[in-house]
Amino acid sequence: MRPADRVPAAAPFAARARVITPLPGGRTRDVADGLIEVDAAGRIESIVEAAAAGTVRLDAAADLRPWVILPGMVDLHAHLPQVPNAGLGYALPLLDWLERLTFPTERAWSDPAVAERLGPAIFRAFAAAGTTTVLGYGVVYEAAMDAAFRAAESHGIRAILGKVMMDRVTYDPTIEPSTILDRSVAESRSLAERWHGAAGGRLGYAVTPRFAVSCTAELLRESAALARELGCWWQTHVAEDTAEIAEVGRLFPEARDYVDVYDRAGGLGERSVLAHAIHLSEREGARLAETGTRIAHCPTSNLFIGAGIMPLAERLAAGLTVGLGSDVSGGAELSLFGVMRTGAYSQQARRALIGDGLEAPPLGPLDWLRLGTLDGARVLGLDEAIGSIEVGKEADLIAVDPGRTAPLGGGVDAAVDAEAEADRLADPEALVSRLIFRSDPSMVRAAWVRGRRLEGPM
Ligand SMILES: [Zn+2]
Repeated sequence: MRPADRVPAAAPFAARARVITPLPGGRTRDVADGLIEVDAAGRIESIVEAAAAGTVRLDAAADLRPWVILPGMVDLHAHLPQVPNAGLGYALPLLDWLERLTFPTERAWSDPAVAERLGPAIFRAFAAAGTTTVLGYGVVYEAAMDAAFRAAESHGIRAILGKVMMDRVTYDPTIEPSTILDRSVAESRSLAERWHGAAGGRLGYAVTPRFAVSCTAELLRESAALARELGCWWQTHVAEDTAEIAEVGRLFPEARDYVDVYDRAGGLGERSVLAHAIHLSEREGARLAETGTRIAHCPTSNLFIGAGIMPLAERLAAGLTVGLGSDVSGGAELSLFGVMRTGAYSQQARRALIGDGLEAPPLGPLDWLRLGTLDGARVLGLDEAIGSIEVGKEADLIAVDPGRTAPLGGGVDAAVDAEAEADRLADPEALVSRLIFRSDPSMVRAAWVRGRRLEGPM
């Protein structure tokens, strides 16, 4: 039987495979031939060397070798309705890109049937990319957001979503301008009351003012108050592109800088996730660190749109908690392996061109894996539950086939000596490097949340 025919569908189960996971404190665990056991509640009960497990336990396990089990990816920034736009709009300035591509696409979701049709497929696509947790933006329409939550509920993915709030610039011409703010807050509240903590805590609500350009100070303030009151997350964008920053300066002359716009609204803090944070002054970076505000770093999007390269090493040195986001469709792919690759390349480019003034070596493959998993969970405050493969944590896992990375063609892959290849990949850093720098959508063979298999990976 091939591994694909043996993939466990639901907890409890046991699986035999190589297990690689980041651990707290910057360490990595690699169990070359491991047995992982998941209990009926979907929690990881044990991870042991197969050799130490005994034949009874091994016989009861699904043998997934030569696949590798990793923690599921945590995508901290994605726009659900924009998934079909992936790959379009290269190098358009941010504000033009929004007008020409994004807003018309999101307007189509005014018909909830569009969300009903696309929602399930979009979550399957995240799972196919290896993502088991997504922090996502939706649209301004409440009915469509309800449909998106229902789709996430039945798919099984871990999802924190929010209705987009915008009262200064909006794409919904049917709403009377004077009522937008109250309606936006009321609809966000009712969605949060329905969905925050639903499915046993697998679903969550993020109050989602789009960004300062499309929001009044009053909406920003009310949205932050709502998130605090209901214990939800609060997400928005910050300092992505220079024209955007200039516009924020014009719209909020009373604020010291972009970060101060959100600070004055009460939006900073440990439950707040700001996407991009590319062009920050020293003061802004320090203020985000001081308030514990989280950052979603979205390198594929930043290069695709041409917004810039975030100084990642500086942000980390400043004490900020940073994870990764695909930012589809600012980014053209859902795979966080692809995001790690682009992130690694762009940080190398930044170091080569302008340096980072720091002595630290560049982040390696295992660091990038950590950013996409355990650090993503830390950003969400969920690292006690997910983000790594440890006993007691929930079984949010993926299985990848190292033999299915991007093919080199010409028959090279078939011609390589299997033993030499196994030697090359024996070091976990080498294996993860291969997965990142030659990632291919087909290498993700299975994904589970709380031990339940997700539809999507093939
Ligand atoms: Zn975005």
